[in-house]
Amino acid sequence: MSEHPPYLWRNPEPKRSYDVVIVGGGGHGLATAYYLARNHGIRNVAVLERGWLAGGNMARNTTIIRSNYLWDESAGIYEFALKLWEGLSEELDYDILFSQRGVLNLAHTLQDVREANRRVNANRLNGVDAEWLTPEQVREVCPIVNISPDVRYPVLGGTLQPRGGIAKHDHVAWAYARGADALGVDLIQNCEVTGFDVVDGRVTGVRTSRGNIAAGAVALCAAGHSTVLGELAGIQLPIQSRPLQAMVSELLEPIHPCVVMSSAVHVYVSQAHKGELVMGAGIDSYNSYAQRGSFHVIERQMAAALELFPIFAGAHVVRTWGGIVDVSPDASPILGLTPIERLYVNCGWGTGGFKATPGAGWLYAHTIAHSEPHPLNAPFTLDRFTTGALIDEHGAAAVAH
Ligand SMILES: Cc1cc2nc3c(=O)[nH]c(=O)nc-3n(C[C@H](O)[C@H](O)[C@H](O)COP(=O)(O)OP(=O)(O)OC[C@H]3O[C@@H](n4cnc5c(N)ncnc54)[C@H](O)[C@@H]3O)c2cc1C
Repeated sequence: MSEHPPYLWRNPEPKRSYDVVIVGGGGHGLATAYYLARNHGIRNVAVLERGWLAGGNMARNTTIIRSNYLWDESAGIYEFALKLWEGLSEELDYDILFSQRGVLNLAHTLQDVREANRRVNANRLNGVDAEWLTPEQVREVCPIVNISPDVRYPVLGGTLQPRGGIAKHDHVAWAYARGADALGVDLIQNCEVTGFDVVDGRVTGVRTSRGNIAAGAVALCAAGHSTVLGELAGIQLPIQSRPLQAMVSELLEPIHPCVVMSSAVHVYVSQAHKGELVMGAGIDSYNSYAQRGSFHVIERQMAAALELFPIFAGAHVVRTWGGIVDVSPDASPILGLTPIERLYVNCGWGTGGFKATPGAGWLYAHTIAHSEPHPLNAPFTLDRFTTGALIDEHGAAAVAH
C-alpha cells in the first residue's frame, strides 16, 4: 500500500459543462464517478455535493456488509457488491479496513427460525455463503452472547454469513474520491443542485448554488434527499425519508469477534477496529430531514443490547447521531432510468446501502454509460411500483442494514 499523500483530491472550480453530472457526493456518487472513469473512459464528470464530501449517510452508517438477502434479484446485486469489496483495498490502493468477521442474525421465535432457514436455503441456491447455527454454535462464534433460556426472547439459533463484516466508511469514501479525482473527475463541494433544465423530455443541465452547469447526463445519488430532487425534476419517487440513529461506546479491549444482529429484540452490535462498540437499530417512525432522531429509540436499543450482551452493562455510550435514510415501499433500491431522458436515479437503499457502495457504483456507471441497465440492476426499476414486480426484502432487511 502506498504512503498517504498530503491531499486526496483537488478542489476545482466547476466547469460550465460536463458529460455527466452526479448529484450527491456520498459513497454511491463517488463510486459511480470512479467506475464511469475507470470502466467506461467517461472522465468529463462532476460530482456535486451540497455539503462536504461524504458527510451524509456515508459518514454516519455502521458499515455492516453482507449479501444474505432473500430474493434472487437481491442476492445478485448484493453478492456482486460483496465480491467487489473483497478486492477493493487493492483496486483503490488504499486500506479500507475490510474485515470479514462474519455477520450473525439471531432467531428468537419460531417464525424467526422458519424465516432464517428459508433464507439460508435461498442464499445457498444463489451461491451466497450461509449457515444455520444452534444456540450452542452461536455461542462458539460469539461467546459473549447470552443464550440463557431465561430471558425475554431466548436465542433459538441464528444464521451466519462468514464472508460478511465491516469496513471503515471514511476510508472507503476517501479512496473512491482519490481514485475518481486521479482519473480526472471534478469533485465539487458546497455546491447544491437547486433545479434541472429539461428540454423536450431530455435533461440538459442542472442549476446550482454555484451557477448553471450543462450536462449530457445527470445521475441522482442523493439518498435521503432523493424525493426533494425528484420533485425539482418533476418526478415523484416512492421514497420516505426517515431518521436512522446509531451510537458508539467508549473504547474497549477487543471482546466482540463478529457482527450480531437481532430483529426480535431489535439491535445490532459490532466492535470497530479502534475498540468502540458500534450499535444501531431501526428507523424512527416519522419522516424528517433533520439528522437526528428520538431518544426512546436509543433507550430501547440499549435495553436490547444489554439483554443480548450482559457483559456490556458497565460500558458507557459516548456519542449518538442520526442520518436521513431513503426508504422504499419494498425495502429494495431503485437503480436505473427515469421518465426523463438521460436523467438517472439511484435511491431507496434505506438503512442498508453502505454494503452496496461498490456494486451500486459499478452498475449505475454501466447504466449511465449505456443508457440502459446492467442485467443485475434491471429488476430494480422505478416502474416496479406501478407494474407490481416488487422485490420485497422486508424480512431480510428487518433490523435494518
Ligand atoms: C445510522 C445509520 C446506519 C447505517 N448503517 C448501515 C450499515 O450498517 N450497513 C449498510 O449497508 N448501510 C447502512 N446505512 C445506510 C447507508 O449509510 C446508506 O444507504 C448509504 O450511505 C446511501 O448512499 P450514499 O453513501 O451515497 O448516501 P449519502 O452519504 O447520504 O450521500 C448523499 C449525498 O447527497 C447530498 N445531497 C443531497 N441533496 C443534494 C443537492 N440538492 N445537491 C447536491 N448534493 C446533495 C448529501 O449532502 C449527501 O452527501 C446506515 C445509515 C445510517 C444513517
